[in-house]
Amino acid sequence: MSQKGKEIVVGLFVGYRYRQDRRNADGSVSWRCLETNCAGRMKIFTDGQTQEITKHEHAPSDILVTITKTITITKKIFITITK
Ligand SMILES: [Zn+2]
Repeated sequence: MSQKGKEIVVGLFVGYRYRQDRRNADGSVSWRCLETNCAGRMKIFTDGQTQEITKHEHAPSDILVTITKTITITKKIFITITK
């Protein structure tokens, strides 16, 4: 499969970076941590609710929390602020 034109959707959620993994049958979307060797996973439901599926093996980045509002990693970016 060619890498050309491949677009990954990157999400920033309270200090962690994720890439979109897959859309599930119920409409929810699974996200995987961008860090190698981290099994961190989360899910976003159609109503916007989030659920942590697998815990991260590292601490969240304060810097990422700070820049979440301004960063642009790819054309598409999904930003959610969770309090
Ligand atoms: Zn992680």
